Amino acid sequence: MKKILITGAAGFLGSHLCDRFVKEDFRVIAMDNLITGDLKNIEHLFKLENFEFYHHDVSKFVHVAGTLDYILHFASPASPIDYLKIPIQTLKVGSLGTHNLLGLAKEKNARILIASTSEVYGDPLVHPQTEEYYGNVNTIGPRGVYDEAKRFQESITMAYHTYHGLETRIARIFNTYGPRMRLNDGRVVPAFIGQALRGEDLTVFGEGLQTRSFCYVDDLIEGIYRLLFSNYVYPVNLGNPNEITIRDFAEEIIKLTGTDQKVIYKPLPVDDPLQRQPNIAKAKEILDWEPTILRSEGMKQTLEYFKSLSKEELSKSEH
Ligand code: NAD
Ligand code: UDP
Repeated sequence: MKKILITGAAGFLGSHLCDRFVKEDFRVIAMDNLITGDLKNIEHLFKLENFEFYHHDVSKFVHVAGTLDYILHFASPASPIDYLKIPIQTLKVGSLGTHNLLGLAKEKNARILIASTSEVYGDPLVHPQTEEYYGNVNTIGPRGVYDEAKRFQESITMAYHTYHGLETRIARIFNTYGPRMRLNDGRVVPAFIGQALRGEDLTVFGEGLQTRSFCYVDDLIEGIYRLLFSNYVYPVNLGNPNEITIRDFAEEIIKLTGTDQKVIYKPLPVDDPLQRQPNIAKAKEILDWEPTILRSEGMKQTLEYFKSLSKEELSKSEH
């Protein structure tokens, strides 16, 4: 049985990765310090023999007993309000945490895939974004703690590949949504659905003319899976190119939830990217991958999940 370490395992993407690799008959070592994650996302796996969980901060030395074949490094706060609240931990997990996991991969002769992000492109001046674009990041702006940690993460990962011959993979993940997102993590999907379900108006930041392209979690997990087992060491964009303005997205949620709430406008956060859409030609060519789940379908699944939460959980609002 192959053994895989998944960091950030109690988070949104990490928990779905745990499900996938358990299903594929891997021995899954899940690690998380629960700073933004929740054990509820993986507690259904606790009874399984091929699953174990370690409560650990990966910015500190990481030890795993015995052999290890693969590492997926997904630990990091991922929502703007999270990384604004814990900027130093965000910088540390992207830099020191990544260094620790690369060192572990080298010691164990394991292949490592790191979760990078479309945020390495910052507020992009090239649209849609290709992997060749170097980005437009404000290093000292509020989002810099996340963006620069991820840019450093890519650099150190490439350096371990070049200088130590380590087997590395880099996924540049674009906005992904689905069940197990934290309702109050401030990201737009849980924010709008939570507001609609609580009967509150939907808060659009700025004029809502900024765009995002939302990928359903099942599609993303398939892309990560294929990238891990590919031979490609350079960054690969993974996301859904279907782009929408945030204002139109709010209207979609109002329709989907059948509420009669209005859209209200709040100030645009500093350095909020104006446009974001992945060019996924590389993923199509190298991984034979592209998203298959329409936003209408993915949002229905996501709404079902949020509706299944208790009233208490639903009442926790971030705004
Ligand atoms: P999330 O907040 O739901 O999950 C992150 C997990 O990492 C949490 O469980 C948290 O407790 C854990 N964690 C954070 N710091 C840690 C540390 N020092 N040690 C151990 N565990 C730690 O976020 P997510 O959306 O699941 O994102 C997962 C990864 O994917 C992140 O690296 C993020 O940057 C990347 N990513 C996500 C998206 C997206 O749209 N969801 C887009 C681009 C990149
Ligand atoms: N956004 C919004 N209202 C909210 C939360 C977010 O209008 O209540 C906007 C935010 O300003 C951004 C977009 O939605 O332009 C996506 O935000 P999110 O935090 O989900 O992701 P990111 O900015 O990291 O892509």
